[in-house]
Amino acid sequence: MENESTITAPARRFAAGSAVQFPPMRETLLTSKLAGFGTSIFAEMSALAASTGSINLGQGFPDTDGPVEVVEAAREALARGFGSQYPPVGGVPELRIAIADHQRAYYAINLDPDSQVQVTVGATEAIAAALLALLDDGDECIVFEPFYDSYPACIAMAGAVSVPVTLRPPNFGIEFDELRAAITPRTRVILVNSPHNPTGTVFDVATLTRLAEIACEHDLIVIADEAYEHLTFDGVSHMPISTLPNMAERTLTIGSAGKSLSFTGWKVGWATGPADLVGAVRMSKQFMTFGVGGAMQYAVSVGLRLGPAYFNDFASTLQAKRDRLAAGLDSAGFQIFTPKGTYFITTDISEMGLGDGIALCRLMPELCGVVAIPNVAFYANKHEGRNLVRFAFCKRDEVLDDASQRLLRLREVRT
Ligand code: PMP
Ligand code: GLN
Repeated sequence: MENESTITAPARRFAAGSAVQFPPMRETLLTSKLAGFGTSIFAEMSALAASTGSINLGQGFPDTDGPVEVVEAAREALARGFGSQYPPVGGVPELRIAIADHQRAYYAINLDPDSQVQVTVGATEAIAAALLALLDDGDECIVFEPFYDSYPACIAMAGAVSVPVTLRPPNFGIEFDELRAAITPRTRVILVNSPHNPTGTVFDVATLTRLAEIACEHDLIVIADEAYEHLTFDGVSHMPISTLPNMAERTLTIGSAGKSLSFTGWKVGWATGPADLVGAVRMSKQFMTFGVGGAMQYAVSVGLRLGPAYFNDFASTLQAKRDRLAAGLDSAGFQIFTPKGTYFITTDISEMGLGDGIALCRLMPELCGVVAIPNVAFYANKHEGRNLVRFAFCKRDEVLDDASQRLLRLREVRT
């Protein structure tokens, strides 16, 4: 649904800008765990969009607010002082119950809201807290690349080792031989993201079943990043891997109000699962942030109860946006991998004659006034994603149309 925006243009620019860069740092300052990660590609590309006045199809955030009922609930919570003081470490009961009810309503998962639900500062904190709590020095964590960029950084901060398994075009499916070969006696966790950022792949039941069997066979914990659970297209639906046989006891499932309700700036997320895994997340989360912004928790509890009509409508609106931008990208000469979910279209640019993904993303603001993300930022094996570029389509139709027109200029550069 195309919501009327309630925030002002300057505020919108701030949201989109992220123009704050890291100050220069002595090379020797950072620990070896963090050295080498550099500025997140999202901050870098949003800053580039802001400084060049380009359309930002890089960092994934909607340019319209989520449902007005949810904004109203936040306003009311603020006015009535709900959550104005430190909320409980697990999250306010209203939200923990709403998350448990949501998991029951959509996936028939039964959770105790006290011991099996943890509210976090976005899905990002849920992932960080889980990895920090569950990985010891030298433990190995399987990640499928391309990955959300916080995964390897958090694994490194835990002193553990990322073991990437590559998802390759055109289908970006799991190569199970490679997955099996990547597992060693030090493997403790498999981190899996579906619907998958940046490829838009939604793993089907057969894939999830094979993955689950491997996790059980090797007694691995699965961290399932399901931030885009409601953003699926073409009749495809998301299935939590925790619902497969023997998986509930070993899976930590992660969700995001940023994605499900279009409030990425509120940074409310959650982890659900068996009490021992949720307890581990709570243990490390309490020493990082303790709680999560109180008023927003009440508002998100209202959002999660909007019902299937809201989520279906939201997904079909996004599907239309996907098709709108895909048509524009196609006309501009990009090869598209049609996503079945998320905010993103991944494209192959090898045939465009404009260099690799990094070169093109650096040039695009000047050539056509559009910013995108070079997918190579999401790979440990840098040769794998060199020619892939990601575009976000969670934008107003007029913005997508404007971007599509601008992208046509790339055709002129080529000839
Ligand atoms: N996981 C994936 C796959 C993501 O793309 C993102 C970023 N949107 C997150 C987690 C983090 O979500 P949040 O904004 O709720 O921290
Ligand atoms: N997940 C969002 C994306 O992939 C960005 C999140 C962030 O800025 N850290 O675009």
